[in-house]
Amino acid sequence: MATIRELLELGRKKLEQSGNDYAWHEGRVLLEEALGQPHLYLLMHGEDKVGTEQEQAYLSMIEKRCSRYPLQYMLGYAHFMDYTFYVDENVLIPRSDTEILTELAKERIEKRGGPLRLLDLCCGSGCIGISLKLYCDNISLTLSDLSEKALRVAGRNLDKYGVDANLLRADLFDGLKERVDMIVCNPPYIRTEEIATLMPEVREHEPVLALDGGRDGLDLYRRIIREAGNHLSGDGEIFFEIGYDQGRDVKALMEAGQFRDVEIRKDYSGLDRVVYGHL
Ligand code: GLN
Repeated sequence: MATIRELLELGRKKLEQSGNDYAWHEGRVLLEEALGQPHLYLLMHGEDKVGTEQEQAYLSMIEKRCSRYPLQYMLGYAHFMDYTFYVDENVLIPRSDTEILTELAKERIEKRGGPLRLLDLCCGSGCIGISLKLYCDNISLTLSDLSEKALRVAGRNLDKYGVDANLLRADLFDGLKERVDMIVCNPPYIRTEEIATLMPEVREHEPVLALDGGRDGLDLYRRIIREAGNHLSGDGEIFFEIGYDQGRDVKALMEAGQFRDVEIRKDYSGLDRVVYGHL
């Protein structure tokens, strides 16, 4: 029987060999999961022996992660903003990049005051809209997605946090009855031919529907900008997440679609990440 410390070391080594840049951290999280114990417990009980069943559970999770299966799908959750969202293979794993968009929308909601109607379009797990609703109680929230299965995940996250929202299965705005004041949207924006070049975690396991933005990656922005005028209130606004090289194109599309004061915001790596503006 191996000790906690030995298993951590073994997991780190295997994960490192699989090309994992966060081998120590991820191995530790998987051992916490296998033992059902927090980090502190592992630190304080390094020399304790681990039962055979738990060791097996841990080693098989390490194997699965070495095959580049995403960590968050194994754990069933991902951290985003101040929250932890349930995730499975039906939704994109929330990214820290997307926190830029969420922060920006949050500031804007706080400035405008309420009540505001907010639509999280292509909501996936619902991480953007649900976080905003948790920060700002003065919004009424609609989460919409084309995927029924993604909406089920979003529904589960609503229940988890006891948040109220309309869930809408829709091809963009179909079936949206009321105009909204604000749209937040992280649409699929990868160019179709680039998908094959992404990390195996992403290209083999994340839903292609949440990634594929068509030939130039801009299909969804075009459609949304074209249709948004019919679904936004008079001074309605949109916050889009974008790929690092799509800032100028999406800004131009928004300006051609009568949006004003369109601006680009960079992420912490200095890359264009959000485009936003209002009618
Ligand atoms: N809104 C979700 C997210 O930001 C899903 C985005 C998507 O499916 N393209 O994670």
